[in-house]
This record gives sequence, C-alpha cells and structure tokens, in this order.
Amino acid sequence: MSQPPCPDAEIYLAALSHLPDAVVIVDAAGELLFANAAAEVLLPGGLAGLGGKGAPSGYQLLDSYQCPLAKTELPLSRVLGNQCLQNEELFLTATAPPSTRWVAVTGKPLTGPGTAAALLTLRDISAAKQQEVSLIQQAFHDTLTELPNRDLFMDRLSHALARTHDQPELLMALLYIDLDRFKVINDNLGHQVGDQLLVEIAARLRSQLRPDATIARLGGDEFAVLLEDIATSSTAIDLAEQIQSAIAQPLLLQQQEVYVDASIGIALGPATYKNAGDWLRDADAAMYQIKDNPSQNWHIFDSSLQVQQDLRLRTEIDLRQALMGNELRLHYQPIVTLNTEEICGFEALVRWQHPTRGLLMPGEFIHVAEATGLIIPLGWWVLAEACRQMQAWTREFPAMANFTVSVNMSSKQFSQQNLVARIQQILAETGFAANRLKIEITEGVLIDHSDSIIATLEQIKALGIKLLVDDFGTGYSSLSYLHRFPFDCLKIDRSFIENADQDFEKLEILQSVVRLAWNLGLDVVAEGVETPRHHAQLKALRCELGQGYLFSRPLAPAAIEAMMAEKIAQIPEPAPITPAP
Ligand code: C2E
Ligand code: MG
Ligand code: MG
Repeated sequence: MSQPPCPDAEIYLAALSHLPDAVVIVDAAGELLFANAAAEVLLPGGLAGLGGKGAPSGYQLLDSYQCPLAKTELPLSRVLGNQCLQNEELFLTATAPPSTRWVAVTGKPLTGPGTAAALLTLRDISAAKQQEVSLIQQAFHDTLTELPNRDLFMDRLSHALARTHDQPELLMALLYIDLDRFKVINDNLGHQVGDQLLVEIAARLRSQLRPDATIARLGGDEFAVLLEDIATSSTAIDLAEQIQSAIAQPLLLQQQEVYVDASIGIALGPATYKNAGDWLRDADAAMYQIKDNPSQNWHIFDSSLQVQQDLRLRTEIDLRQALMGNELRLHYQPIVTLNTEEICGFEALVRWQHPTRGLLMPGEFIHVAEATGLIIPLGWWVLAEACRQMQAWTREFPAMANFTVSVNMSSKQFSQQNLVARIQQILAETGFAANRLKIEITEGVLIDHSDSIIATLEQIKALGIKLLVDDFGTGYSSLSYLHRFPFDCLKIDRSFIENADQDFEKLEILQSVVRLAWNLGLDVVAEGVETPRHHAQLKALRCELGQGYLFSRPLAPAAIEAMMAEKIAQIPEPAPITPAP
C-alpha cells in the first residue's frame, strides 16, 4: 500500500481502513495510491478491472444488463477522464473465489496539491438488489403458482404486438384457459385443496409448453399462454388438445381423486390487433363460446364471433325494450303423473315475442339476460305472470284447482337482498297459494351462493313453496352436497332420459339417481320424456312425475285454455233426472 497523501494521514488512514465501502485512490497515471481493506477483498488482483494500470485482475465489471464494458467505460478510466460518477450500479463477477455481486460506484476526480488524481468508492448493494428483484417478482408474478401475472402477461403481449412493425407476417396464438368446475371443488373440498389444484395445474401447463412460450395466471382459475412464431394455427390447436388432456388427468388431492376440465379459447394474432386488451378479449370470447356449446373444448376466435358479439349487444338493447314493452310471454309445459298420465301442473317457460325476429326461445336470450343482470326484472315478471295466470285459470277451470306451477329462478336473483319478501308480495298480490308454487333452481345457484343459500332456501320453504333442483346430473351432483339443502324434488336432466332405452350404463345411472332421490325423501320429475319407451322405463323405476314432448310441448296460454275447455266438454253431461214415478 502507498504513502498517505497528507501529514494527518494516520488518522485518515485508520478511518478509511475501517469503512465497509471499498475506497481506492489513484494518481493521474492510474497507479494505486491507497486502497482500504474492503477494496482488497472486493477487487482482488489490482485495478485493471476498474480501468486502472496493471495485469488483468481477478474480477470483471459488467453493466446493469450484465454486458461487458469497454476499457473507456470502466469507472476509473472515466474518472481519470474528469467525469464524476454518482452511485452507478454495476455487476461485479470475481473468479477466485467465484462470486457475483452488485456494486454502486461513486467516483470523483481530485484536483489541487498532491499526487492523488481520482477517488473511487464501491458499495456492495447485493442485498438491496436482491430485495428489489424479489419485489419485482412479487409485483409481476402470482405468489401461489409463481407464474407471471396478468400485468406481466399484458406487457409480454404488447411486446409481441410491437414485433409486427418489423415482421407483419408473424403468426402467434393466445390461448385463454378456464378451468371447469374449479369453484365446486374449492367450495366443497376447501380452499387449501383448491390452491393445491391450481399449483398442480400450473405445473401441468408448464410441462406442455416449449421454453419460449409465455404462460400466466390471469386470476382465479384462468390461465393464458402466448405462443410466438408459430407456423400455422394447427400448432395452437395441437397445444390446446395437449393441455386439455394433461388437465383432464385425475388429480389426487388429500386422498381424493379430483377431476377438472379446461375450456380453451384461441385468438390468432398479432397482425389483426392494435392493442393487447383486444387480443385477450377475443381469446376470452372464444372461450365463452365453449361454455355455450360444451361439445368442444377449444374454440378459435373468428370474425363471425364478432358478429355474434354484435348480436349479443343488439339482443341486450332490445331486451331492455322488451321488458318495458310487453314483449315477453310465458308458455306452459304440462307435468304429468306418469302412472295416470293426468296433468298435475305446468312448468312456466319464458319466450320473447321479438318485433322483428319473431318468437325467441330462452336459449337465444337468457344468457344475455344473465350476463347483463336483466334476468332480475325478467325473473320477477315471470314469477308474477305465472302466479297471476294460474290464479285466473283456477277461477275459470275448477279442474285446475290443485295444479302446481314451476318457475325457474336464476342464480342472479338469489343475490337480491329482498328476495323472500318479494316472493311473498307477489303471492299476496295475485292471491296464488304458496303450496302450489314450485321454484326450480340449478345446482349452479347452490355453488354461487354457498354461504347464504341455505338460510334463503329455508325461508322460501317456510312460506310453503316447494323447492326443486333442475337439470339434476349436469352439475356437481354429489349426494353429500344435496342433502344439506331443503329440497322437495329432483328434476332429472333430459340427457339421462335420452338414451336410457338403448344405453345400459345410462339406465343404471338413471336408476341410481331415482334411488338417491328416494333415500333423500325427494320426489322425482323426469324431464324430456319423448317416447313411450322412456315412459314405460320411468314408470318401472317408480319415477312419479314426467314432462316431455310425449305428453305435450310447452303451450301458449290460449292452447292450454283450449285443452282445458276440451276436457270439460269430454266430461259426460249428467243424465237428466227423471221424476220418480
Ligand atoms: P329447463 O328449466 O330445464 O326447461 C326445460 C326445457 O326442456 C324447456 O326448454 C323445454 O321446452 C325443454 N323440453 C321439455 N320437454 C322436452 C322434451 O321432451 N325434449 C326436448 N328436447 N326438450 C324438452 P326451453 O323452454 O327452451 O327452456 C330452456 C331453458 O331456459 C330452461 O331449461 C331454463 O333453464 C331456461 N328458462 C326458461 N324460462 C326461464 C325463466 O323464466 N327464467 C329463467 N331463469 N330461466 C328460464
Ligand atoms: Mg326448469
Ligand atoms: Mg331442466
């Protein structure tokens, strides 16, 4: 080590020697005048690595992107060239022993008396850098699966879009992956199992992807994949199918086998997109197509989907008008006692008499009503109209005095605070007896409102109304799940009835569903009874009630009235009373 630069050197030297930062002082030729103990540790083998004189040192300084620096860019060269440096972050790699660290370099040219020409300090900022990296990791990654999050994914999409400026012919695919039935598993088996499932799914997704693909968890049970530089759309379709089958493999979580499926929407780009948001929106829309048509588990967005979206928007605007303009109608489908084939009630089914498109079936507008919240006013109209109509018929046709009416209620209606009071009010206003009203809900309602639903259902039941599970068998359908709720009746989905006369397995399922209902003390209605064979089979299974085209399609009120009038006409006139002789 060289001589101290001034007479009080002893004191300065002691102070500098104990500093935790590395301190180096050199003369104008770049020769070392002073280096403290921290500098000797940090900069083994001399000053060449800093840009000073001497043999190659045992370390190298790289820029903040970890790229090598030219000699003129090294800190000492710059300070000797009369530049000041203020906390410049550089990456230092040492060879013996091998180590890396981040340093903040500050440098100052020294002027005035004496030989010292430059002062450099280097502070080890590795810990702070590490913290910064982990903060960035946290801000842009999902903590559960450690996958990039939505923000980072959107950023990657924007970068991918930017690449098209130079290469407009690039083909890329964005896959939007949504897990089916995740909420059911989460609600039934607990959030811890739900979390484990997401981690496992993330691992399966990763295992299916090539290294340059970007995968992210967008939130909840939604994931996305970006494939850059693909040759044709079949690469994306092949991947979607691979992902689908990887996800469909059973998972063993807490000793239980759990099954999930995925719906995958694909949007090809990037040339057609101006921004990342539109691209993701279209992949999401393609995914929703599958939810509407579950026969396929992937779907590619095409411009006809845009047309469908426009139709959806048009339907939404028109539906608002329909609610105010008296365009909704109710049709009534008879429900019969299977043994006698006598009608015992109806299911009220909504239709829309559209001013230009004609009579629309629920499949054409209920999903729009659900998505926009219009299902709430629609649902109240249906309930009030069904009760009003039934009460009017009861007065007109005494034979209908005991007929029940089933009304479908959507999950959205169950979010309403005043649901029970409103039902009560409708019954009071129409005078319809509560014990002749049945409310049909699907298993989805139970899932969407798992916390509050039991209390609400109990209150509805306390009014005397019957509760019915609709489309039974298409949802989660677990026995343990059902017995917690106060149902009176199960309506078996028509998919179970459909092939039960040809498919033995279907028949077995049907049989066990009927048995399950019996065990739970529930009545059973079979939906979609289309053939005499269905009818006979259901009777043999001791299923009590049925509904289907075999008996009648849903009918407009006028047709119901004509049917009832005909029934009255068929009752033989009482024989004239002949006076006793
Ligand atoms: P859902 O409640 O399961 O109603 C039964 C559907 O099956 C009706 O279709 C009915 O016409 C049809 N169906 C009855 N028997 C047969 C048969 O033998 N074969 C076949 N292939 N189909 C049969 P629709 O009227 O098109 O209603 C479809 C769905 O729309 C309903 O299914 C229900 O989920 C919903 N929906 C209808 N009206 C309302 C309503 O007022 N409110 C709510 N929230 N949803 C409604
Ligand atoms: Mg129904
Ligand atoms: Mg149904």
